Amino acid sequence: MTFWKRHEFFINGDWVEAADANSMDVLNPASEQAIGSIALADENAVNEAVAVAKAAFPAFSRTSIEERRELLRSILTVYRNRRDEVAQAIQLELGAPRHLAYGAQTAVGESHLDGFLQALGTFEFEKNLMNGDMVVREPIGVCGLITPWNWPINQIALKVLPALAAGCTMVLKPSEFTPFNAMLYAEILAEAGVPKGVFNLINGEGPVAGAALSRHPDVAMMSFTGSLRAGAAVSKDAADCAKKVSLELGGKSPNLVFDDADLENAVKRGVRQMFNNSGQSCNAPSRMLVQHSVYEEAKTIAVKTAKQQDVGDPDQAGKHIGPLVNHIQFDRVQELIKAGIDEGATLLIGGLGKPDGMNEGYFVKPTIFADVTNDMRIAREEIFGPVLTMIPFETEEEAIAIANYTEYGLSAYVQTEDAEKAMRVTRQLKAGMVHINGAGMAPGSPFGGYKKSGVGREGGTFGLEEFLEVKTITRPKQVS
Ligand code: NAD
Repeated sequence: MTFWKRHEFFINGDWVEAADANSMDVLNPASEQAIGSIALADENAVNEAVAVAKAAFPAFSRTSIEERRELLRSILTVYRNRRDEVAQAIQLELGAPRHLAYGAQTAVGESHLDGFLQALGTFEFEKNLMNGDMVVREPIGVCGLITPWNWPINQIALKVLPALAAGCTMVLKPSEFTPFNAMLYAEILAEAGVPKGVFNLINGEGPVAGAALSRHPDVAMMSFTGSLRAGAAVSKDAADCAKKVSLELGGKSPNLVFDDADLENAVKRGVRQMFNNSGQSCNAPSRMLVQHSVYEEAKTIAVKTAKQQDVGDPDQAGKHIGPLVNHIQFDRVQELIKAGIDEGATLLIGGLGKPDGMNEGYFVKPTIFADVTNDMRIAREEIFGPVLTMIPFETEEEAIAIANYTEYGLSAYVQTEDAEKAMRVTRQLKAGMVHINGAGMAPGSPFGGYKKSGVGREGGTFGLEEFLEVKTITRPKQVS
């Protein structure tokens, strides 16, 4: 297998050797073996990348909307040609199984392009207000983009594409655990004709490279996806310059299953969505709230579904789930499973340790807890592994109260055959996105959450707006 030694950063349209930088091995989470190594940027490397992005801003910010649409179309073409290379990297560094790496994990790189192309086609960059003043939307400047490892291309695309569409220049710092798909993305952008200096990439650790980017006075806005801890650090680092910060953070999303739902499908779907990507999705339906009258039946369906959930080598074909990304996540998930057991939840299936016969790799048993109460850690904390908690409720009011009893507010899921109830409940949920009876979100719709799930929205027109400043022009009648 190829060993990717990539001690270089993408600056001003070229790969630049990171001569004296520290380095880090990148592991395959299925084997725990190194598949490559990267250089870790220090503050000087960040400064260099920001300076280049700053120099490229005046020209790029003046490009026309049509030129930028053409650029996005060209990125779509090159991305389609090279999508399999990106999928291979995601399979190796994240441990995403083939069907996921070559499927949803990389499909989003295309669908978000569609979403932003549509947004750019209809967005009003200039508008006359009813009061006679004019409002102009202008690119905000140099953007610092920090992304995590769990849906790496999704998060990169949701930041890089609207920044380009808006006319901004940027420095991306992807997760140090999944750097190679991002490095391929840099090559795709260059091949598609993104002008030199507009897109720059550095690898590095959050508290060093990420913090230097967040603090940098020439960075006009930070767009961050990851944990609340790191998002709060970015906000604090950005505060001295009063720079705009957009955050996509975690979730503890409720899935409300009412007794009039199509129970078999609703529960099956909920379990499968929870286990997808080994539970490493911020919008995973991690709390299944089930109406008491169908709770026992729901538990039976959930266990049956979990038994069908294979865990296996990412390199093999099949619908199995792969390992967690690294030992940090593995240890955290084990700790929370132990907390669930210690706090008295009923372990229906799964539990501590690796699945039988799997000794190497960060594999976890698909796990379901029942009789979970709101005071338990597994009801409140984001586990970020294939662990579902099932909580019973009696009434609609109680279901809504439990659903909203969380610091997070990213997604919510509602299962009922009563359309009126579905909308009534949905309107009372404190969540940025609500899915009724398994419906998926269309590309271009705003992604993001209430409360500690974040600030701002990504995708389509809403995502584009994050990268724009608003200028009000007030003028006498003769100037127009
Ligand atoms: P993380 O916050 O540790 O890392 C995310 C990114 O932030 C990485 O690039 C990391 O290097 C960087 N970072 C870390 N500390 C930093 C600091 N002090 N300053 C600047 N940058 C810093 O998170 P993770 O473990 O990689 O990802 C898992 C978390 O991310 C989960 O909580 C998950 O819910 C959340 N997440 C949210 C969304 C969303 O869209 N809402 C999407 C994916 C992941």
